[in-house]
Amino acid sequence: MYTSEQLLDLKELPERLVIIGGGYIGVEFASIYGDFGSRVTILQDGQRFLPREDEEIADGVRANLESRGVNVMTGVAVQSVLSQEGSALVTVKKGGDIIRLEADAVLTATGRRPNTSGLGLESAGVELNARGGVVTNEHLQTTAPHIYAMGDVVGGLQFTYISLDDFRIVRSAVLGDGSYTLKERGAVPYSVFLNPPSPEWEWESRRPEIRVTR
Ligand SMILES: Cc1cc2nc3c(=O)[nH]c(=O)nc-3n(C[C@H](O)[C@H](O)[C@H](O)COP(=O)(O)OP(=O)(O)OC[C@H]3O[C@@H](n4cnc5c(N)ncnc54)[C@H](O)[C@@H]3O)c2cc1C
Repeated sequence: MYTSEQLLDLKELPERLVIIGGGYIGVEFASIYGDFGSRVTILQDGQRFLPREDEEIADGVRANLESRGVNVMTGVAVQSVLSQEGSALVTVKKGGDIIRLEADAVLTATGRRPNTSGLGLESAGVELNARGGVVTNEHLQTTAPHIYAMGDVVGGLQFTYISLDDFRIVRSAVLGDGSYTLKERGAVPYSVFLNPPSPEWEWESRRPEIRVTR
């Protein structure tokens, strides 16, 4: 069973890769390893794939992956992952059925938490929330006023450009007039990273019609 970093360290390509979690990392790795030649299965617990996306986008991503041979299973509950000689056995429940999948590697892509436990932050007066994220105000100042927190450790949106923009907020607070805060950030654009659609994939015909109503 691997995290995304550990999977990239493997010296051999897993012939059968099972990915637990159909979120952004799961989808990105399914795309990469599918193109490398692994037989990839994504296990998503809810009925909807990429549940945070608009349905049209999620359907488009799923169709793209499936057209490249990725098996997407939704509405499945992982019961167990057992190591056996040189491989793993993943048991899932779908409705009333028990399904067993053999895999050469299993990627867990079910979400990331801030790595804050054991640092003794409480002793420094830095408060954490229930998920281990550092509690801050809109200047990213923690509950210890001389300590600021930026990036994933704050426990908000986990994107590279959020951590970059967090720097601007702290710079404004520490070196500037403090006028740039979380409140000024506004909407944050983001992407679902996949390989570009192949020419055979008819994006044009699948593009949802967008109507603007006033
Ligand atoms: C597989 C994957 C794909 C991603 N794809 C995208 C993407 O396409 N686009 C995007 O915007 N974002 C993506 N992200 C998210 C992005 O990587 C993070 O949001 C970003 O790296 C956060 O930056 P950071 O500086 O807060 O944390 P990190 O980049 O994680 O840096 C934290 C550093 O602190 C170190 N560290 C941790 N604990 C300790 C400790 N106790 N003591 C000392 N050092 C410590 C870590 O080793 C690490 O070097 C992806 C993340 C993953 C895992």
